[in-house]
Amino acid sequence: MDINKIREDFPILGRTVYNKPLVYLDNGATTQKPRCVVEAMVNEYYSVNANVHRGVHFLSQQATELHEAARETVGRFINARSTSEIIFTRGTTESINLMAYSFGEAFLHEGDEVIVSTMEHHSNIVPWQLLAERKGITLKVIPITDEGELILEEYEKLFTPRTRLVSVAHVSNVLGTVNPVAEIIRTAHAHDVPVLIDGAQSIPHMPVDVQALDADFYVFSAHKVYGPTGVGVLYGKEQWLDRMPPYQGGGEMIQHVSFERTTFNELPFKFEAGTPDYIGTTALATALDYVSAIGMEQIAAHEQELLSYAMQRMDEIPGMRIFGRAKQKSGAISFLVGDIHHFDMGTLLDRLGIAVRTGHHCAQPLMIRLGIEGTVRASFGLYNTKEEVDTLVAGIERVSKMF
Ligand code: PLP
Repeated sequence: MDINKIREDFPILGRTVYNKPLVYLDNGATTQKPRCVVEAMVNEYYSVNANVHRGVHFLSQQATELHEAARETVGRFINARSTSEIIFTRGTTESINLMAYSFGEAFLHEGDEVIVSTMEHHSNIVPWQLLAERKGITLKVIPITDEGELILEEYEKLFTPRTRLVSVAHVSNVLGTVNPVAEIIRTAHAHDVPVLIDGAQSIPHMPVDVQALDADFYVFSAHKVYGPTGVGVLYGKEQWLDRMPPYQGGGEMIQHVSFERTTFNELPFKFEAGTPDYIGTTALATALDYVSAIGMEQIAAHEQELLSYAMQRMDEIPGMRIFGRAKQKSGAISFLVGDIHHFDMGTLLDRLGIAVRTGHHCAQPLMIRLGIEGTVRASFGLYNTKEEVDTLVAGIERVSKMF
């Protein structure tokens, strides 16, 4: 990988903040966009824009072709069996809400149970809690070790005849732990329970093959994988999606409407009410083509090298506490130094041009488990360099000395 050449594809990386070169280490929150992704959006608005699916005219057909070609690109990227299994949503959060609503409607009844884990993002907790209030279901939680790994023996013990779904993150946005999702899925399937994988933090960092994992559902957001905001994906096996009711009603998702009776469209359109973000889906496909051309294996290897270099260098800093030391780790390092408040550390690093995230990272139950209020999180993307890690380490040391 020629990082310097790759960095040239991301104009924002060339800017300064407070007269310092930007060191962008907040990729877990959102990634920067390569020129090709922005250009795909501009080009489509300027030369193709028309509403999809319903038009007989040239532009509408061309826009529809681009939108459906994007679905194929997404399907290929995660190795789905067919495009019927690719539902476009607004993002990971909406994909999980769709699941809680629609899977919940079809398959969850009072007294049923959903298994999640201690390290979930609020997006994979709150929709299930809302469902729990509506339907009287119970959430069961997989505990973690102090290193930040799921305790699989405890996971197995959570299954009962009322378990209906397991919903876990592939990669923790706080700890960086890469969960053994293939094994988690095998265990669940042995109990005839389907599994939803929150792929928000795995999709940008590693090759994902939903068939090899045998995932029943896999969700992610475009903006975390160098694509646009406002677009996401719900992958689901047809055998499940077919039996789930629509999530929202409106145009696109119907076959026929009368005041007496409405019939619904086939997959995937049944779940896509209203005008989709067809510009965004083209841009998502462009982003996936971009990372595919570099190679997900290469990206993973580069980021692993960065991560182990950063872990080693950060461990040398006096008072450093790193949260998450799983054997399989990716993407993010959460830390605190001495008793310096995470917010102070983040604010002062920002003044040095270093963008990190501070706070509970939408994972308050995990913070409670760790016995802290928040952390500073540095999260990496394909364009980050060892020099940037050095800048981060020097920045942390400088801030530490001030306290
Ligand atoms: N799940 C995980 C693990 C995340 O890291 C995030 C975002 O940080 C989300 C879900 C929510 O993603 P979005 O806000 O794009 O819907």
